[in-house]
Amino acid sequence: MAAGTELNAYGELVSACTRCRLAEGRTQVVFGSGDPSADLMFVGEAPGFHEDKQGVPFVGQAGKLLERLLEGIGLSRSDVYIANVLKCRPPGNRDPQPDEIEACEPHLFRQIELIEPRVVATLGNFATKLLSGRPLGITRVHGQEQEVTLGARSVLLYPIYHPAAALYTPAMLKVLESDFARIPSLLDGADVPPPPPAFVPEPAAPVAAADAEPVGQLGLF
Ligand code: URA
Repeated sequence: MAAGTELNAYGELVSACTRCRLAEGRTQVVFGSGDPSADLMFVGEAPGFHEDKQGVPFVGQAGKLLERLLEGIGLSRSDVYIANVLKCRPPGNRDPQPDEIEACEPHLFRQIELIEPRVVATLGNFATKLLSGRPLGITRVHGQEQEVTLGARSVLLYPIYHPAAALYTPAMLKVLESDFARIPSLLDGADVPPPPPAFVPEPAAPVAAADAEPVGQLGLF
C-alpha cells in the first residue's frame, strides 16, 4: 500500500480517538499534514486555537514563521510533513500533561513509521524530550543532531526552538534561523559542523504560544 494511503487510513482511525480527556474539548483531531513520504518531518507540541478549528497543524502565527523559515531553505509546507506530539488541543493552550503525552505517543510513532522521514526536527521541549527519550531541554540541545532509533528505523533527530518561542524573542529567532540553515546539509547527509552555540537569554516571563488565545503554552524552552 502507498505511504499516503496507509497514513490517511491511520489518520481516519485517529480522528475518532478517545484515549485521553482532550477528546472531550476538541473541535477535531489535528493529525498532521504534508507529504506522506517526506524526508523531513517537523514535530511540534499541540494544536492551538486555530489548528483545532481548521484541523491543520501550524496555521497560526507560529505556522507563518515556520513557513517563512522553510522558504528560507527553499522548501514549502508541501515538501515536508508537519505533526504534533498531541493531536488534540489542550484547553486554553496549556502544557501537555504526561498522561496525555503517553496516551497520544503511539499515534506519533506510527506516523513516523509510515512516513519514514530521514530527518525529524523537533520543535521545542515536548517533542524533543519525547523523541530523544532524554530529559534535556531545548535550550541545551538545540542544533545538535543525533541518530535515534524510532520503531525499527534510525532517523536523525534535530532539536530546534519552537517557532512560537522565537516569535517574541529576537535572539531566539536568530538561533532558530541559523539552526534551520543546517537542515539542507543534514538532509544531504553532509557533515557540516554546527555553528558555535549562541547565547540566548531566558525571557523574563513565559511567552504565550503562537496562536495562543487565552493562556500560553509554557513549556516551549
Ligand atoms: N504550536 C504547535 O506546537 N503546534 C501547532 O500545531 C501550532 C502551534
